[in-house]
Amino acid sequence: MLTGIHFLLTMTCNFECNHCFLYCSPNFEGTFTLSQLRAVHEEMSKIGTIEMVYYEGGEPFLYYPVMLEGIKMSHERGFKTGIVSNSYWATSEEDAELWLKPLLDLGISDVSISNDVFHHGEAVVNPATRALTALKRLNITSGDICIQAPSLDLEKTQEKGEPVIGGGAMFRGRAVEKLITDELPRKHWEVFTECPYEELEAPARVHLDPLGNIHLCQGLSMGNMWEVPLAELVKIYDAMAHPICGPLVKGGPAELARKYNLEHEEQYVDACHFCYLMRKALIDKFPEYLAPRQVYGFNE
Ligand code: SF4
Repeated sequence: MLTGIHFLLTMTCNFECNHCFLYCSPNFEGTFTLSQLRAVHEEMSKIGTIEMVYYEGGEPFLYYPVMLEGIKMSHERGFKTGIVSNSYWATSEEDAELWLKPLLDLGISDVSISNDVFHHGEAVVNPATRALTALKRLNITSGDICIQAPSLDLEKTQEKGEPVIGGGAMFRGRAVEKLITDELPRKHWEVFTECPYEELEAPARVHLDPLGNIHLCQGLSMGNMWEVPLAELVKIYDAMAHPICGPLVKGGPAELARKYNLEHEEQYVDACHFCYLMRKALIDKFPEYLAPRQVYGFNE
């Protein structure tokens, strides 16, 4: 049952992180307008099962007043709200409180902060730590998202008896281009027979981008909500009839490669690495479902 909507409020970000699976950057344009947010909220109410709405990006604080208006709209319709931010705005703890106070007044449920070397380098005190301190002081529920460069997790590798990659990066988007190295262990493509992370048959949450795409996974779209209304698309969605989700549900990235007879390597780091590259190879065949192109590293 679909209970979560995540607005990618803007695709623009002040950072350009190596691990970003959406390829966000200062040059990736696209931001929800107020009238688009209103229209989507109307649709969200029609769906009838939505409980939680997140505002993320890109970096949602770049469009601060629009983000606040979106949160208000969500609350007026009875949804709980959360935010994911890189906290670039936390120039001091006092200033961070100034940015956060309006969210407290609106009754935000959760603020997650990206706190890792990709965003803030090695400094012990950084915008993320300042933001987290301010959140604690204001008594706003918060958490940090910490991704590290991928490497072999020796402890887990010993436990499981096979190589385990630590660090938490997902090998999609820019992470495939920037973080896959020859040192990372790989497995034969035929072992990737399922999608390990997304509930493609019955998604509990989707991400919406300002171009209208409804992401089941980054760059894997249910359809375009500017062409067919969101509630309608959610109602008629059938994973097995979807040209990409169907094979993924049936037999993972291996089945996707087999079904479309795609050329591929013998080995991949993980299922997402394989899946992302197979989807990229299919982008011209299924532009409606593999979008936007920027998420696959095409700058257009
Ligand atoms: S296997 Fe594919 S659809 Fe599943 S989480 Fe990984 S990239 Fe996304």
